[in-house]
Amino acid sequence: MFNLTTLVRPNILNLEPYSSARDEFSGTEGIFLDANENPYGNLNRYPDPFQKQLKQKLSEIKSVATENIFLGNGSDEIIDLCFRIFCEPGKDKALTFVPTYGMYEVSAAINNVELVTVNLDKTFQINMSEALPLLTDASLKLVFICSPNNPTANSIDAVEAIIQNFKGIVVVDEAYIDFSDRESLSQKIAQYPNLIVLQTLSKAWGLAAARVGMAFTNAAIVSFLNKVKPPYNISAPNQIAALATLEKTDEYDRQKETLLNERVIMIQQLRQLDYVRKIYPSDTNFILIEVTNADAVYNALTAQNIIIRNRNKVVKNCLRITIGRPHENAVLLTALQNIQP
Ligand SMILES: *Cc1c(COP(=O)(O)O)cnc(C)c1O
Repeated sequence: MFNLTTLVRPNILNLEPYSSARDEFSGTEGIFLDANENPYGNLNRYPDPFQKQLKQKLSEIKSVATENIFLGNGSDEIIDLCFRIFCEPGKDKALTFVPTYGMYEVSAAINNVELVTVNLDKTFQINMSEALPLLTDASLKLVFICSPNNPTANSIDAVEAIIQNFKGIVVVDEAYIDFSDRESLSQKIAQYPNLIVLQTLSKAWGLAAARVGMAFTNAAIVSFLNKVKPPYNISAPNQIAALATLEKTDEYDRQKETLLNERVIMIQQLRQLDYVRKIYPSDTNFILIEVTNADAVYNALTAQNIIIRNRNKVVKNCLRITIGRPHENAVLLTALQNIQP
């Protein structure tokens, strides 16, 4: 069955982590002459390396124990840490289902790890008969599943089937889960010891600039993530900004409701355009559409300083539109109504 110590790279298993001054003494009262800091100023002290206050707050909001939470400098840092902990460069492999988030591929390449890609089917779901045989490869250590998926906007049905049929680590990237009606897998980390659930404050919480990503997983994996991360990976201003925003749950709810309403309006209006061939269902704060000529639509919008994402090279003739403020969405729709591609 699942054996974490055989999955972790031997050098990481044996790693003696850097011990910072703030690890040895973390109280807030006292005279601090232990970290070679400048005693003057407002940002003169190193931040809490384990972000205890922030984790406490997230624990309440997400119903996950603090010992099961790891925080990264964005989820992008956690994706990189997963490669560094579990994949021996030039030897081990990872797998993902495409089209999907581009960072898995970039991070794999940086770490010199082969990323096996399997195409999602026509409805952007996992074809299990194609996926299952690949999961038995002994050099396959990591599987990345983005659900709801970027850029296809749908939730993936087979996530738990993959987790149950793989002896390595499954990373489920739930960056858009706040916009979906589906349950997060964060409540199943006790059931699945090989599961790492990623979420972020960058999307629904509106904190992309603060770079706070979350991993929810068992305490043993959290301890490996802690060993490998840079000691002070989340700055004090960013920890403070995150804490302040997490207090404002009313604002979070209001913004989310507005964005979900705007998504409905956007879909209704896009349906009226005769060059829009397909509008894919969305569990996210963006919409993927297929048009007759994606490059033409994209260029016409860019000329008017309206920037959307051209995914033509990833999904033929597809465009990805992020839901913005009501006024921004209205400007986009007017521009789209005046285009003849
Ligand atoms: C936007 C996004 C993220 C967010 O990454 P951060 O580093 O936390 O900002 C992660 N995964 C996916 C699929 C995304 O689209």
